[in-house]
Amino acid sequence: MAPLGLYIHVPFCSRICNYCNFNRRLLDDPLKARFVAAVRSHIECVAAGLSHTAPRAADTIYFGGGTPSLLSPAEIASIINSCQQAFSVAADAEVTMEVNPETASPEALSGFRAAGVNRLSIGVQSFRDDELMRLGRVHDQARARRAVAEARAAGFDNVSIDLIMWLPGQSLADWRQSIEGLVSVAPDHASLYMLELYPHAPLREEMARSGVSQAPDDDAADMYELAMDMVGAAGLAQYEISNAARSGFESAHNLKYWMDGEWFGFGPGAHSTVGGVRWKAVSATEQFVSAIEAGSDVQTDRRVLSREDRWQEALITGLRLVEGVAVDDLLRNYGLDIWARYGDHLAPYLEAGLLRHEEGRLRLSRQGMLLANEVLAVFI
Ligand code: SF4
Repeated sequence: MAPLGLYIHVPFCSRICNYCNFNRRLLDDPLKARFVAAVRSHIECVAAGLSHTAPRAADTIYFGGGTPSLLSPAEIASIINSCQQAFSVAADAEVTMEVNPETASPEALSGFRAAGVNRLSIGVQSFRDDELMRLGRVHDQARARRAVAEARAAGFDNVSIDLIMWLPGQSLADWRQSIEGLVSVAPDHASLYMLELYPHAPLREEMARSGVSQAPDDDAADMYELAMDMVGAAGLAQYEISNAARSGFESAHNLKYWMDGEWFGFGPGAHSTVGGVRWKAVSATEQFVSAIEAGSDVQTDRRVLSREDRWQEALITGLRLVEGVAVDDLLRNYGLDIWARYGDHLAPYLEAGLLRHEEGRLRLSRQGMLLANEVLAVFI
């Protein structure tokens, strides 16, 4: 069995950004203390329920949110400790924490490093103050730059930066400025997302009020190409639709999602996929914490994945990777033949150059990545 990933969802934020559709809530200190205890119990309970004689091996821990950096170093250390007690966590495990720039300080970052965190993912989102204000972010670009410098000073040699493109009012030149900002602080990894506006996002109202809109689709495509070209030239090679890294700094945790791996999720709303079964924990933080305190089950939406479900998921997630999927491996693992099932549907995409089939691997071209939703819909 390949080592597991362990995901811990920290739902607290100091302010709610106007485009955010994650499972998050405003910080509440008394609830935070109960949350930390509940997550630790959740980890222990799940591990105790496994029918293995020895603890299962894990080689990644990922604190996502929300804003995990609102937890104290001692709280993060206690959760890592619970993971180590419950699972056989590799000594060189990748331990990532998402950090918002405004929560960073030299003391806090040194504390997180001492607690065992060895990779930071900093939510910069933009290196332009006007865009950060429009998104309702707390930090400005100067604070973001300081956070990266403080991370390096605290001993982090694996730092990732998140940016969002296709923001309302953002031109190609504005976006270039953000990428230049990213390149100037020399991260080891970059996650470059397109803004997805969910139906009732407050940012939509703000856009309607101020008469600002997103650039046309063609400009969004240019932004994407520009971003991947610029970070590539700076030594960060694209390895997934939205991610690029220096060689050896790809996110080991996220690769589990894209490479048919297994992971446990702890905390409100966290998903798990282990042994062909998928479930999530109840999403509302209060409900999650109260249920754990009462000794009740927090598992919901449990689904046994069929062989066909797993095969389709392995295809869809694997095609997000630049290297794509090994067609023969999928046939061997799941006994299903992609050409027999989808050959007719895939032919037009292969002919148009959106998909490539080379040396036994099926993969999206750069152009195909821009239209990934359309191409991957073939498998759904
Ligand atoms: S900090 Fe992140 S999780 Fe929190 S509200 Fe903003 S976008 Fe959402």
